[in-house]
Amino acid sequence: MYDAIIIGGGPAGSTLGRKLSKEGYKVLLIEKHVFPRYKACGGGITRRCYKLLDVDISQCIEDITYEIIFRFPNDKTIALQTGEPIIYQVDRAKFDKYLIDIAAYYGCEIHDGEIFYDFYDNGKSLVVVTDKGEYETKVLVGADGINSNMAYKTRLLNGKKGIALEGEVYVDDSLIDGLKGKVVVDFNAIRYGYGWVFPKGDRLSIGVGTFLNKVSNIKEMLSKMIEENVGGNTKDCKIYGHQLSFSDGSDGVFNNDKIILIGDATRLADPFTGEGIYNALLTAYISFDVIKKHFSGECGLDEYTLRLNREVVPDIRWAYRLSQFTYNNMDFIEKSVRLFPNVLSYFVDIMMGDNTYMNFKLKVPMYALRVMSSKTKIKVEKNVP
Ligand SMILES: Cc1cc2nc3c(=O)[nH]c(=O)nc-3n(C[C@H](O)[C@H](O)[C@H](O)COP(=O)(O)OP(=O)(O)OC[C@H]3O[C@@H](n4cnc5c(N)ncnc54)[C@H](O)[C@@H]3O)c2cc1C
Repeated sequence: MYDAIIIGGGPAGSTLGRKLSKEGYKVLLIEKHVFPRYKACGGGITRRCYKLLDVDISQCIEDITYEIIFRFPNDKTIALQTGEPIIYQVDRAKFDKYLIDIAAYYGCEIHDGEIFYDFYDNGKSLVVVTDKGEYETKVLVGADGINSNMAYKTRLLNGKKGIALEGEVYVDDSLIDGLKGKVVVDFNAIRYGYGWVFPKGDRLSIGVGTFLNKVSNIKEMLSKMIEENVGGNTKDCKIYGHQLSFSDGSDGVFNNDKIILIGDATRLADPFTGEGIYNALLTAYISFDVIKKHFSGECGLDEYTLRLNREVVPDIRWAYRLSQFTYNNMDFIEKSVRLFPNVLSYFVDIMMGDNTYMNFKLKVPMYALRVMSSKTKIKVEKNVP
């Protein structure tokens, strides 16, 4: 009998697997792919996420971002130089494998290449059914991503879905070198979302993602994004489609008496930027605390939903409001940013983990008027390639 079985070996599942195993619990992690596996993702670890990590990921970092180039619908470009690292770029295949290896090191049993099908309650524990066998557990954790089978089976369905298309684009080294230390965020690329260019060591991640649940010509949008950023220099390009999860900040239910959902299975990704790894880690940490207390008889698993609705959801609610306003008023946003460029330093502070969305109403007038930190520089330009 396992203390916990975790379905899914992304950052949420492997983090919880590591933490529980390190405490001496008997844990099995079941992942349908064999590691290393591809994961459609920009692989941008914001500074706030980097600070939240409790393992050293320096060996996974492909590039460090110091400059964000924003492109707006009227072709205006605003470049924001942060002076200190704001995003750490990782290759998700290597990053996820690294986190899994650490979990295994601490004793978490890893069954990769095994598919979770179902579970049933035998009266004293839960029995997990996969394509390879059946396993008994006290607690079952769904860390199986946005299309979580666990969420469907338990009817713990939360949040919303958007869509994204990502190209892993191989180009000449000189082009990659030119983008080192920078990312492009293009609000011109797609409605209600953005296009991105993130350098990834030997290639670029170029993508388009929208918080709308359908958009008709996303392939053309990605082709345009690739054409505009690397022209005809593409040597090879692999394109992957994926759904994006996000929340509108409504309170949710994320557990029942023996089951907990973590990571994208909760659909608690940031509705303003699409960043999901931060809340994947946060939900893993909170679930770890609650499961530990549950095993020592201090609380039931319901404590988990209470904590997420208290500690995670309120900030997302503000991120959602801001996202609604921003994506519906891009021209206004671009003009305001040109008039009060210091407002951008507010978002820098959120990505750095030095401020929250919740503080926006109170703090944004102060940010607009304050003198920007000497490290952050903003260049407003038109038609910069
Ligand atoms: C195109 C795109 C770009 C993104 N860019 C960024 C970014 O730059 N920065 C950022 O912070 N976030 C980004 N995100 C979001 C981020 O990828 C997710 O929030 C993050 O991966 C969530 O981690 P997780 O561990 O919850 O789930 P996942 O990483 O999705 O892992 C879930 C795992 O469960 C496994 N699984 C599923 N079903 C089963 C089953 N039945 N049996 C066994 N295993 C199963 C899957 O194979 C998978 O390995 C992006 C997302 C997309 C789609």
